[in-house]
Amino acid sequence: MAHKIAVIGGDGIGPEVTEQAQRVAGAAAKRAGLDLSFNSFPYSADYYLEHGVGIEPGRFADFRANYGAILFGAVGDKRVPDMAHGRQLLLGARFELDLYINLRPIKLFTPDLCPLKGKGPDDVNMVIFRENTEGLYVGVGGQVRRGTDDEIAMQTAVYTRRGTERIIRAAFEYAVKNERKSVCMSDKANAMRDGHELWQRTFKEVAAEYPQIEAFHLYVDVAAMEMVQNPERFDVLVTENLFGDILSDLGAGLQGGLGTAASGNIHPGRCSLFEPVHGSAPDIAGTGKANPMAAVLSAAMMLDHLGSPEAALRVENAVIAQIAAGDVTVDLGGNLNCVEVGERLLARVLA
Ligand code: ATP
Repeated sequence: MAHKIAVIGGDGIGPEVTEQAQRVAGAAAKRAGLDLSFNSFPYSADYYLEHGVGIEPGRFADFRANYGAILFGAVGDKRVPDMAHGRQLLLGARFELDLYINLRPIKLFTPDLCPLKGKGPDDVNMVIFRENTEGLYVGVGGQVRRGTDDEIAMQTAVYTRRGTERIIRAAFEYAVKNERKSVCMSDKANAMRDGHELWQRTFKEVAAEYPQIEAFHLYVDVAAMEMVQNPERFDVLVTENLFGDILSDLGAGLQGGLGTAASGNIHPGRCSLFEPVHGSAPDIAGTGKANPMAAVLSAAMMLDHLGSPEAALRVENAVIAQIAAGDVTVDLGGNLNCVEVGERLLARVLA
């Protein structure tokens, strides 16, 4: 199988970590017989300041028609304080490519990284499916009497049957494919009686089609507490956009922070975007301190999306072995730089 991959390093540490992710994933793909060709694009704050746009018109259509995936680094630069370029790139990709799944694996690789007492890799191993195109993020709202004591601000959450059903179905399909035993749906239907009643009803109907998977529901406040007290209760967790945003960062904390937190913005079968959860980290850009593992793990998710779970597993196993060996950057307690971590991962993938 051959796929074109668009590489967008972005700002700050984005290009450094993406370079290592591309190397490691490229090698794993080759070993698995997956033929990847990488094309780099310069979209970044520099590009925006020079051209006045984050990405040129028509490029997303090109990605959708001709590319298997986008490997993304990070955006964020103080010269663009409103992050206009980041919005055009990331929200643009999400909406123009209809990337309705935000997939966030929460996997603890070693007990040392977990802030919870007595919990290990068997306890913290869940996958969050965050709905990525609806909810409070659609931009429906308004402000009235702005700047006065009578000011009103409104932000409307939008949920469609189609949007709700497809993310819930994706969570169940993932559970079946990956031999996960349960899917938890989290909402706030006791307070948001219209929008989240739709989630409840849709969840029950879709769950009935997957009798082999245990289906249960937790209100989002309870889910947040349970993730901390009993993370082992969760296998696959599906939720709406805002709650998913919050719970997935809680999850990143459980797995030890930004160093190993990976993500995919996915439309199954179509060009999808994979990026580390961390930002551009301008404080360490160019120093060699950036940990490339989250980017590498995001690239592993890309390999899985492109149909090579064995290549993805090879990369993930290399990361696990490398963390165990202490061949890591300063943030994880080691003394290697970004390129050295990439080189050792590459050696492990090729071994
Ligand atoms: P942005 O505005 O792009 O989100 P930020 O600095 O506010 O940037 P992050 O980039 O996520 O947010 O960084 C938060 C902190 O974590 C910073 O101190 C940064 O140096 C550190 N950090 C983030 N990513 C990494 C990484 N890959 N390796 C090491 N440290 C990191």
